[in-house]
Amino acid sequence: MKTYDAVIIGGGIIGLSCAYYLTLKNKKVALIEKNQIGNGASGACDDMILLQSKKPGKILEMAIESLDIYKGLSKELNYDIGFHNRGGMILIDKEEQIPFMEDYVKQQKKYGLNIEMIDEKAVKKLHPYVKDGILAATYGSEDSQVNPLYVMRAFLSSCISKGMEVYKGSGIKELKNNNGNWQITLDNDVTIESESVVNAAGAWSREIGKLIDIDIPIEPLKGQIAVTENVPMLGKENIWSADYIISKLKPELVNHSERFKELGVGLSFTQTGEGNYLIGSTRERGNFNKNTDKEVIELLTNQIVEFFPILKDVHIIRTFAGFRPSSVDGKPIISEVKGKKGFYIASGHGGDGIALAPATGKIIAEMICKEKPSLDISEFSYDRFI
Ligand SMILES: Cc1cc2nc3c(=O)[nH]c(=O)nc-3n(C[C@H](O)[C@H](O)[C@H](O)COP(=O)(O)OP(=O)(O)OC[C@H]3O[C@@H](n4cnc5c(N)ncnc54)[C@H](O)[C@@H]3O)c2cc1C
Repeated sequence: MKTYDAVIIGGGIIGLSCAYYLTLKNKKVALIEKNQIGNGASGACDDMILLQSKKPGKILEMAIESLDIYKGLSKELNYDIGFHNRGGMILIDKEEQIPFMEDYVKQQKKYGLNIEMIDEKAVKKLHPYVKDGILAATYGSEDSQVNPLYVMRAFLSSCISKGMEVYKGSGIKELKNNNGNWQITLDNDVTIESESVVNAAGAWSREIGKLIDIDIPIEPLKGQIAVTENVPMLGKENIWSADYIISKLKPELVNHSERFKELGVGLSFTQTGEGNYLIGSTRERGNFNKNTDKEVIELLTNQIVEFFPILKDVHIIRTFAGFRPSSVDGKPIISEVKGKKGFYIASGHGGDGIALAPATGKIIAEMICKEKPSLDISEFSYDRFI
C-alpha cells in the first residue's frame, strides 16, 4: 500500500493550493479527484479577487493576504496565472442603498482598504458607457483578478514536479483510521494511506464527512453565468451593482421582483484577459443540476443592457453553471476535526474561494506541519458545529 504524508481530496483551487504549500514543505502528497481537475466550482466561476465584497473581518483579512500572494505567484510558479489589477466599482442606482453602502465603505476602510465613494461624474469618467442616473459608486483600487484555470494548472504542474501523485477519475469508497493512519480506499479498490487527509471536495464535502460519521454543513449554491463574445474594453474597472453586494450581505434590502430575490441575482460584470465579459450571476440554493435556464440568463443579460445600453447587440456565446461550496453560516471551514486526528477540512468558501485559495492552502500546510498559522483563523474551525 502506498503511503503519503498528506492526501488531498478534491482537485479544485482549494485542494491544489493545499497541495502546493505542502509540497513546498517537502511533504509527500497525493491528490484524489473524482472527475477531472477543475471539474467543480473552480472551473465554472468568475475570476475575481474582489476585496470590496468581503465582509469586514477575518474573511477580508484572508483575502488581503491572498491578494498579496497572488501578486507574486506568476513569478513564483513561472507560469502566467492571468493576474490583473484593474480595480472595481459597485454602482448604486437606488437612493435607499446609499446609507448601507456608505457604512460598508467606512467599515472596510478600517481594515486599510483603499476604497471610496465617488459621484456619477467620476463614474462616467472611468466608465463612459454606463447608463445615466447612477447615484454614486464605491471605487476600490485593489480589486484584482486571476484566471482560475491557469492558477490550477500552475499549482498542479508545480506539485507534480515536486513528486505529487494524482488519482483521477475515482471517488472514495471507504475512509477509515487504522492506528493513527488514514486508509483511503478508492472506488477502483486502490487503497492508500496517510497520516493527514484534507477534505477539499468543495460543494461535495458533506459526502466525504459522512464516510467518517461527521456532518459538514456545506451545500451547493448554484451560480449561472453568461459569456459574451470578445468585445473591446468598455472601461478598466470591473463592475458590480449594489444589489449584488446587498443580496449577499443584507438580502432584505433588495428592492426587486420576488423571482429576482429568489435567484439572488445582482449584476457582476467582469472582463477576462481574453476580452470576453462574464455576466453573472445567480445564487440558487438546492441541487446539483448543472443546466442553465433561458429565463435566468435573460434576467442576467437584461440587467447588463440596462446598465450598459451599448451592449444590446452583443452576442452571448456560452452559458455555464457552477456550485459554490456554501456553509451554513457563510464562513469557510478550515481546521482539523476534533476527535478525528489528522483529518482536516478546507472547504465552504462560498463565493470567495478563488480570492481565499492561497491563504487557505498556506494555513492548512502550516497546520499539518504543526507550525503556528500565519493568520489566526480559529473562527473558521469545524469545532463551531460540534
Ligand atoms: C458562478 C460562480 C462565480 C464565482 N465567482 C467567484 C469569484 O469571482 N471570486 C471568488 O473568489 N470565488 C468565486 N466563486 C467561488 C469559487 O468558485 C469557489 O469558492 C471555489 O472554486 C471553491 O473551490 P474548491 O476547490 O473548494 O471546490 P471545487 O472547485 O468545487 O473543487 C472540489 C473538487 O472536489 C471533487 N470531488 C467531489 N467529490 C469528490 C470525491 N468523493 N472524491 C474526490 N474528489 C471529489 C470535485 O470533482 C471537484 O473537482 C464563484 C463560484 C461560482 C459558482
